[in-house]
Amino acid sequence: MKKIIILLAMFFIAIPSQALTIDYTKDGSAQALVSKIGFNILNANRIPQRMVFYVKPDKKVVNAVTYFRDRQIVVYGGLLTYSDNEDELAAVIAHEISHAIDSYDGVLRGFFSPVTYSLKPKKYEYKADKRAVDFVVKAGYNPLAFITIMNKIDSQPRYELFSTHPLCSRRLAAVYEYIYTKYPQYLVQNEYKDNIYYQNFLLTSRENRLKLQEKVKNNSKKRIKYL
Ligand SMILES: [Zn+2]
Repeated sequence: MKKIIILLAMFFIAIPSQALTIDYTKDGSAQALVSKIGFNILNANRIPQRMVFYVKPDKKVVNAVTYFRDRQIVVYGGLLTYSDNEDELAAVIAHEISHAIDSYDGVLRGFFSPVTYSLKPKKYEYKADKRAVDFVVKAGYNPLAFITIMNKIDSQPRYELFSTHPLCSRRLAAVYEYIYTKYPQYLVQNEYKDNIYYQNFLLTSRENRLKLQEKVKNNSKKRIKYL
């Protein structure tokens, strides 16, 4: 049956604090890994909504998708190829879990949740990014992996006007600010400081991080307009 893809979350992974121990090339091992990470996040965060995790081997698709109707989170083979460690994969799965939770919201078991999403898709992307940080921290993963995987896989179009997703540079800056504010310990003891994808984020986010520095200096609560 035709399924409606409500959300395309472009996430993909990068480098390593710990290398993945599972060989994805073996049948079933990728599925075991994705399910383990998914259920680990659900249980650690006491998430009461049901959802399932599937791997589709297509390596050309560097993506993960949440199907609102069936509460299925599908991780494509391309995303696995880009993932250098479990932290990175967990970051993407946690983002999708946020969408799957929201699919339950509203009347008739969330029947209209796709409509709600389609009205303000970017709002829900930011929400899922922040919630992903909370979810992975609680489940014992390093949230900086969100930055490395996204910096590796998500493109940077000129404008976000016609897109369902905010510009990746804005998402990364918002996630960085969230980690800086809520979980600064990960920046103090930064396991990702030598990661080339993290270093590239530092290089390309200089102006945005200066904006954050100003905000912190002025003790401002105003929302930053990131580039
Ligand atoms: Zn998303």
